[in-house]
Amino acid sequence: MTRTAFSPSLHVADLRLEAPAPAPADAEIPFARLDHADSELLHELLAAVARVAESGAFTLGEEVDAFEREFAAYCGTEHAVGVSSGTDALALALRALGISPGDEVIVPANSFIATAEAVTLAGARPRLVDVDPASHLLTADILAAAITPRTRAVIPVHLYGCTVDLDPLTEVARSHDIAVVEDACQAHGAHYRGRRAGAVADIGCFSFYPTKNLGGWGDGGAVVTSRPELAERVRLLRSHGEQPRYHHHVCGSTARLDALQAAVLRLKLCRLDGWNAERRALAARLRSALAGTGVGLPPKPDPHGDHVYHLFPVFSTARDALRAHLGEGGIATAAHYPVPIHLAEAYRHLRLRRGALPVAERLAQTTCSLPLWPGMRDDQIDRVAAAVASFDSKRRPGWRPTTSS
Ligand SMILES: *Cc1c(COP(=O)(O)O)cnc(C)c1O
Repeated sequence: MTRTAFSPSLHVADLRLEAPAPAPADAEIPFARLDHADSELLHELLAAVARVAESGAFTLGEEVDAFEREFAAYCGTEHAVGVSSGTDALALALRALGISPGDEVIVPANSFIATAEAVTLAGARPRLVDVDPASHLLTADILAAAITPRTRAVIPVHLYGCTVDLDPLTEVARSHDIAVVEDACQAHGAHYRGRRAGAVADIGCFSFYPTKNLGGWGDGGAVVTSRPELAERVRLLRSHGEQPRYHHHVCGSTARLDALQAAVLRLKLCRLDGWNAERRALAARLRSALAGTGVGLPPKPDPHGDHVYHLFPVFSTARDALRAHLGEGGIATAAHYPVPIHLAEAYRHLRLRRGALPVAERLAQTTCSLPLWPGMRDDQIDRVAAAVASFDSKRRPGWRPTTSS
């Protein structure tokens, strides 16, 4: 792309964005694809960014208001509040619920570390628990067994885009008077019993990190809820507890969604369902192409749930060798997540030792996420599957953590 000199009025139409030549069949397959690789989308997004830049309204304002209305409507909640990241969305949701020092919040050890960090940021203590060996997710039974007199909330994580079976879990939470905060940072647009992920429980949290199913051009997040007092509290907390200007009611933070991000997200929200449909179709193709190879396949959602395949993990006891093999074939992979939260140095003070949460530990050692992104071609999916199949699965037997076919 040619660089344009800055001019007071940026004419995006003047930017020459050439469509990249289609990748040759043997080109590297990246792990994910970002917006700059789609010249038509990039052009549209640049025009939206230019519009905000020329308005000079960079913080909150109309663009953020409009995104909040549109995202709430999309999720089917009364309110959406734009914040600066998924981590802040979770931390502010917990604070809005009144979680404070001395409280405990139940968090699955098989998640991105931010789920636990948010609890720490809110001043409370994460109580890390193991996940179900079949679904790799939190369940009602796991929750019931972990509740203590100090437990005030639980954060089920719709990991990799697969929904947690929330109704039984919520029932357990209700009967113990603890709040449910959905971590939907990997599940934008997924359905559960006709509702959207994030909109099922008391409050739901999203990240718009660039690689997420709905991603901005930097960091961003949102909290969704239909409880007006929670939405109002998050609104206060994200901006110094201020209402109106220079009148501070609670000790808050600088945790607002940028107007530039909102402009990008508004345009991409219109395409989210289409992209998720593409992800499901690619995942179905990959799933059937991988059947019979030595690797374990990702668990399927429960009959009331959904999967939007933020990631497509496979499982192998020879994970590192599998990743090296795929890398030699020009296929990028990732390990999500190589260290379970309870064994991270940051959480050593919780004193959970190796062996304490065996399913999460096993997953950390065996998970290999394969490339999957909207716009990926069938021949690229087939190449990924063929490369996995050619890995010596006899010498390195795959671990099958699930009974789902
Ligand atoms: C990305 C992510 C977060 C944190 O979001 P950030 O925007 O990176 O702060 C939290 N939980 C899960 C499960 C995530 O994937």
